[in-house]
Amino acid sequence: MIPAEFDYVAPESVADAVAALAEHGDEAKVLAGGQSLLPILRMRLNAPGVIVDLGRIAELRGVSEDGDHVVIGAMTPYSEVLASELVSTHAALLSKAIATVADPQIRHRGTVGGALVHADPAGDVGAPALALGAQLVVAGAGGTTRTVAADDFFEDLFTTAVGDGELLTQIRIPKHTGWGAHYEKFVRVSHQWSIVGVAAAVRTDGGSIAEARVGLTNMGSTPLRAKAVEEALVGRQATDEAVRAAVASVAEGTNPPSDLNGDADYRRHLATVLTRRAVLAAAGA
Ligand SMILES: Cc1cc2nc3c(=O)[nH]c(=O)nc-3n(C[C@H](O)[C@H](O)[C@H](O)COP(=O)(O)OP(=O)(O)OC[C@H]3O[C@@H](n4cnc5c(N)ncnc54)[C@H](O)[C@@H]3O)c2cc1C
Repeated sequence: MIPAEFDYVAPESVADAVAALAEHGDEAKVLAGGQSLLPILRMRLNAPGVIVDLGRIAELRGVSEDGDHVVIGAMTPYSEVLASELVSTHAALLSKAIATVADPQIRHRGTVGGALVHADPAGDVGAPALALGAQLVVAGAGGTTRTVAADDFFEDLFTTAVGDGELLTQIRIPKHTGWGAHYEKFVRVSHQWSIVGVAAAVRTDGGSIAEARVGLTNMGSTPLRAKAVEEALVGRQATDEAVRAAVASVAEGTNPPSDLNGDADYRRHLATVLTRRAVLAAAGA
């Protein structure tokens, strides 16, 4: 299908983009890589009057480091994040999750910022962002910026803390240097969306788990962090038996969907199995 008619602006700075959003209010919609927005427009599920394309804003693109954080510009395509040694060294969990997203074409166009703001609960970057304790930098009218913890970023289905007239500009990830990481994604055929996914980062010390971070994909209306499991893992040996016991309750309190790929109970079972696998793989066991 063909989208409804819209006006198009392509600002070259964050300030100009925010000004365009302020000028056009409810009529405006931000375009990043278009991998979610364009299908939505083509199906006419949304018909914005003005598209604000972020593609020419150089300051929104690239990976850098700032002390003990890796900083990813919101408009950095998946493929650049995947190729980044900074990310694979200090935030390996994100690299591993991104490697499972769709196919090379979509990873070439789609951006990490776009995926986070789109906030599809079956998307693969929310769970690692939560698990790694990412900080999301949001720019608003009048040059204001605020930083939102990943724990507070995902509010509901396709809804985040980024408000009308605001832009996500940066993803700041605390370095997890030397941590093991694994993203376990369950799909029926390759390149599919996660039926369930589990993101695990683990720091081991002499064969036991010293610290653990676990995020869940598609186990509710938002990505979830499994804090009780993280705590239960600390001090355990990185063995199948010990990890199995620590993750047994990972699905407690979750509210996964039921659909053609599986019902909620099946997803709860999957979450338990996949968490054990992800944690053991992250621990190198
Ligand atoms: C065939 C197919 C398969 C896919 N498979 C997967 C998969 O396996 N796993 C997975 O995780 N994803 C998958 N995706 C989805 C894709 O990864 C993301 O949805 C997509 O990359 C979103 O990023 P984008 O840059 O394309 O954002 P866009 O589509 O341009 O925008 C998405 C939304 O975010 C808003 N937005 C974007 N950037 C910003 C910003 N900086 N500030 C404020 N608002 C912003 C837009 O207004 C829009 O509402 C798939 C998509 C397709 C088409």
